[in-house]
Parts: sequence; C-alpha cells; structure tokens
Amino acid sequence: MTEHECPLCKLTIKSKVYYEDRIVTVLDCMKCKIPMAVSKRHTMKMGLYELSHILNIILKLFGPAVMLHTDQRSIPEHWHTHIEVVE
Ligand SMILES: [Zn+2]
Ligand SMILES: [Zn+2]
Repeated sequence: MTEHECPLCKLTIKSKVYYEDRIVTVLDCMKCKIPMAVSKRHTMKMGLYELSHILNIILKLFGPAVMLHTDQRSIPEHWHTHIEVVE
C-alpha cells in the first residue's frame, strides 16, 4: 500500500475531530465508532517524542482511564491506535 492509497494518509474527515496538530489527528473511527489517534506519518516507526506527545494528547482529552488498542490489523503500515474509555 502506498501513501496515495492509504486511508489514514488521506483521512478525509467526516467524523468528529477531537484534536489535530502536525503530529497526530484524534478523531472518531468511522467503523468502530470510538475515538482513535492517527499519526500523520505513513510508517509504523514512532519516535519517542512523537509517541509521548500522542500519549499526552490522549491523556488530556480522555483522562487516564483508557485502554489503547494498538493492533494494526486493518492498516498495518500506518501507526494508529483506538482509544477505549473505561470507567
Ligand atoms: Zn476503528
Ligand atoms: Zn498512510
């Protein structure tokens, strides 16, 4: 899959967007109907700064009571995580 075919690179956003900057977009997953964080870069390699930045954003938006589903089954070449808020 090239970047031109990747749905996470295109990310034509029709769902609710919680947060966006040059590193990450946090939005509702169209399929799962739960929030997910998507890296802006088309890679599975995550730098420590990027990863800690994304985790901090998730913490600010949803608090500490969340479970991250980081399995990359649907799109294996582009880092993203689903965010399940647990009470
Ligand atoms: Zn999903
Ligand atoms: Zn991509």
